[in-house]
Amino acid sequence: MATVGGGLAHADPNQDPPPTLIALGATVKAASAEGSRDIPLDAFFSDYYETVLKPDEIITSVFVPKLAANSGGAYLKFLPRTADDYATVSAAAVLTMDKTKKNIVDARIALGSVGTTPIRATAAEALLRGQPVKAEAFAEAGEKAKEAVDPVSDFRGSASYKKEMVGVFVRRALEKALANIRQQAKATAAKPTKKAAKKPIKKGKKR
Ligand SMILES: Cc1cc2nc3c(=O)[nH]c(=O)nc-3n(C[C@H](O)[C@H](O)[C@H](O)COP(=O)(O)OP(=O)(O)OC[C@H]3O[C@@H](n4cnc5c(N)ncnc54)[C@H](O)[C@@H]3O)c2cc1C
Repeated sequence: MATVGGGLAHADPNQDPPPTLIALGATVKAASAEGSRDIPLDAFFSDYYETVLKPDEIITSVFVPKLAANSGGAYLKFLPRTADDYATVSAAAVLTMDKTKKNIVDARIALGSVGTTPIRATAAEALLRGQPVKAEAFAEAGEKAKEAVDPVSDFRGSASYKKEMVGVFVRRALEKALANIRQQAKATAAKPTKKAAKKPIKKGKKR
């Protein structure tokens, strides 16, 4: 059975967990006989199948911080060939909204299968941070994310096709992340409060 640490150390840019974990702000703990250090996952991958781990270091844990209030995420994997294939393009997005759910407080976007490492689309994130959600905002972020990638042409698609798909999948992942936040808020609002849900239990009555 595969492990999360093994998958990360393997550093294949086509894998599924890295973009999601980068968007979630995960940190890897690397340990050796010399001690240990924390490495943010967006600084962990250095090249195709390469990481910043030293030869004597192993991953001992992966820390995923708790999401801030009014946050939600999505991971989308474009699989035009078979359901169990590696992604042609993958995109993970985590959004944090303000209380009104109308303004973006923070955004994190990471991409897979479009470069020698998983890629964090920081310029696209910056476009969104502090902005009100407008119909075109996510499409603009998708366009910006295309500038961060450098895919190769292979049997999963041409480089230019993959680049186009980055724009599409970043937009869709952001839309899905926002939909998840709004759905979660709706579900929370519909939930009865503890007080309302609590029925008085009569003494001596069997439950
Ligand atoms: C048939 C097949 C289909 C697959 N499909 C997918 C897929 O759809 N999506 C996807 O994301 N991945 C897929 N994978 C890749 C799979 O996720 C990785 O091969 C797997 O995650 C590696 O994890 P492992 O624990 O088996 O590591 P290993 O194979 O045991 O190790 C991988 C490398 O990491 C090193 N290593 C292991 N653990 C550590 C550690 N704790 N610290 C430092 N170095 C370590 C090892 O020395 C080795 O160099 C597929 C693999 C196969 C074989």
